[in-house]
Amino acid sequence: MAKTSGKNGYRFFDQRFSDAIRDRHRRELELVHAIEHDQFVVYYQPRVEVATGTTCSFEALVRWAHPTRGIVGPDEFIPLAEERDLIVELGELVLDKVCAQLAFWATTGQAVVPVSINVSGKHFRDSRILRVLKEAIDRHGVPPHLVELEITEASVIDGGEEVIHAMHALQKMGIALLVDDFGTGYSSLAQLQRLEFDVLKVDRAFTRELNRSNEGRVLFTAIITMAHALGMRVVAEGVESREQLQTLKALRCDEAQGFYISRPLPPSVSQPMFTHRV
Ligand code: C2E
Ligand code: MG
Ligand code: MG
Ligand code: MG
Repeated sequence: MAKTSGKNGYRFFDQRFSDAIRDRHRRELELVHAIEHDQFVVYYQPRVEVATGTTCSFEALVRWAHPTRGIVGPDEFIPLAEERDLIVELGELVLDKVCAQLAFWATTGQAVVPVSINVSGKHFRDSRILRVLKEAIDRHGVPPHLVELEITEASVIDGGEEVIHAMHALQKMGIALLVDDFGTGYSSLAQLQRLEFDVLKVDRAFTRELNRSNEGRVLFTAIITMAHALGMRVVAEGVESREQLQTLKALRCDEAQGFYISRPLPPSVSQPMFTHRV
């Protein structure tokens, strides 16, 4: 390309390249600033029991309350945070916010259900996580069983002994561990059994196929059977229709989450909505 476009081609390329680097650097600084000034808010999306429609948990989903862009979703900054090693700090911020929210709900006399927090692999493998989480729980006076952690398969596979140790220590504290986005990673079933998760969240790619093809339904059925055999509850992610929810009920899937039930909402409007008719 450079050859055919001659001298100017090179310059054009250089210019674009340095623009990209500068832009990246700017976004990085902006993120550091946002963490320092705590520009993050946590939204909550309910997870319901399929059989009863009762909310059994909320998933905490972080958003950046950007001063000029408004509410920015995690896909726009989590990858950068992971790359630039800001994810531990950001993760700790979220842990603290969720514990504070749980304490607030409890002290204002509202019924409280557990909240699951997404923890990135890097953060989960960080040696501080156990202590920091314990401190946040103690500081806010939150019963540990109200905190759950979502981890993707990829982040714990090949994690070695320390990861297994951390997982057991968390479970001993009463903290449930969920596999997030199941089916998108590379973990073997043997590894899944060895890791002893409490809950399996099936990626929405599988939910999407539920009512589209017989294969989709068969696959989902197999996942449920396997998870139950390993002693895990199953959550379907990304439920967007009544038909999907009904199929999940027929398949005896334990729990469901998705836009059909509720979008993620700011905490002020999350709690009152407890039962969803299935
Ligand atoms: P995730 O943990 O798999 O969370 C579910 C994502 O799917 C959320 O996107 C949620 O809004 C979206 N979703 C829920 N129901 C539906 C549905 O019915 N249809 C569709 N199309 N989407 C649905 P969100 O909030 O943009 O989060 C994206 C990802 O960012 C999360 O995926 C999670 O991996 C990551 N993330 C979010 N919050 C945190 C956090 O505090 N820490 C870390 N490390 N990662 C986070
Ligand atoms: Mg999640
Ligand atoms: Mg997920
Ligand atoms: Mg995800």
